[in-house]
Amino acid sequence: MPRYEYRCRSCDDTFELSRPMAESSAPAVCPAGHEDTVKLLSAVAVGGTSAAPAAAPRAGGGGGGCCGGGCCG
Ligand SMILES: [Zn+2]
Repeated sequence: MPRYEYRCRSCDDTFELSRPMAESSAPAVCPAGHEDTVKLLSAVAVGGTSAAPAAAPRAGGGGGGCCGGGCCG
C-alpha cells in the first residue's frame, strides 16, 4: 500500500499515512487530531534549492511514478 505524506497546518507537523491510492486525496487527520491538513506530493524539494545543477543527485528529477510502487518507502 503506498504511503502519502501530509502536512498539518494547525501544528505545522508532517506525517505519513498508508492508504489505498483511491483514498490518496481523501482528508487526512494529523496524529494530534487536526483536520486542517494538506497532502504533500513529495518529500523532495523542501527548502535548499540553491544547489549546483551539475552536482544535484538524480533523485529530484521529473521521472515520477516511483512512489507508486512503494520503492520510496
Ligand atoms: Zn496537527
